[in-house]
Amino acid sequence: MKLFGAIILTSLTILSALFLGGCAPATEPTEPAQPAAMAPTETQIVNLYTDRHYDSDDLLYQSFTEETGIQVNVVKGKSDELIERLKTEGADTEADLFITADVGRLYRAESAGLLQPIESELLSTNIPKNLRDPDGNWFGLTKRARVIVYAKDRVNPDELSTYENLTDSKWQGRILVRGADSIYNQTLLASLIEIMGEAEAKIWAEGIVRNLAREPKGGDRDQAKAIAAGEGDIAIMNTYYLGLMLNGTDPEERKVVEGLGVFFPDQEGNGTHINVSGGGVVNGSKNKDNAVKLLEFLASEKAQTSYAEANYEYPVLSGIPAADFLNTLGTFKEQSLDLSRLGELNAEAVRLLAEAGWK
Ligand code: FE
Repeated sequence: MKLFGAIILTSLTILSALFLGGCAPATEPTEPAQPAAMAPTETQIVNLYTDRHYDSDDLLYQSFTEETGIQVNVVKGKSDELIERLKTEGADTEADLFITADVGRLYRAESAGLLQPIESELLSTNIPKNLRDPDGNWFGLTKRARVIVYAKDRVNPDELSTYENLTDSKWQGRILVRGADSIYNQTLLASLIEIMGEAEAKIWAEGIVRNLAREPKGGDRDQAKAIAAGEGDIAIMNTYYLGLMLNGTDPEERKVVEGLGVFFPDQEGNGTHINVSGGGVVNGSKNKDNAVKLLEFLASEKAQTSYAEANYEYPVLSGIPAADFLNTLGTFKEQSLDLSRLGELNAEAVRLLAEAGWK
């Protein structure tokens, strides 16, 4: 399909988005709320635990510091390790804000009592209701779509339709997807449990396992590479990886993406599965106000523009255009499920994946 559009993301674009404020969208259906002006104070800090590892995020935190005078101390780590660390540290934790990919993890942190409810007019205004916890324990900050990616030379997109269709015998030995320990797969299955019920969702997982081209391994990028290597014809993966590969420094990865088409499943039905990366204020935070300010900053127009341009994620704030790369893929119907419900279904999804023999 249309994956070839020349995507030019210069550091100038990022810098202007971050520091010049010159990238306001041309059309803006709603007026997004802006963070309140902050009074100058002595040394203000906010301690952030995050599993995100993008340079563009660091630029955002710098920009926040310039705007507010609040210094952001970033501790990066793997999500589950950070959750364990928060559990161990308990009330003694230095952490104020926890940011992680996937609602499954946000829900785990919430149900372990690691987050606290926040009320914020700005966050409620800027973030759609289904993308945040109803009690304010966590808030989605970026959106990602889990789509079907296919070999353009071997798959006719007319043959693709829904996630369910992937269990058809015509795809036997052709599907690539990462393992059952992938939170992205767990939340995708949670969405199917919510839509079709547990019994049907289990049949779906078994059908995918039956059609696998190989035992699940690697991350989303590795599934795309395996298509290029001819190991399979179809992958289930998140769109932003394609944007990162296409615009990265590795010429091999660029070539991989050029051979791929993107299909948004279930457009006649419930829509394509979406998930978020997001954050919540840590229970016991000693700089709670600053943590809320940083969350609000990340949901503001400026940060949402940067997330969209730099990491090929969809903004949660309406009116912010997606990156050019995503626009070449076209618009699509999204699942409108409450992500908090998908968090609740995480444990069930994990169990079903195991029962289905998804390694
Ligand atoms: Fe990811």
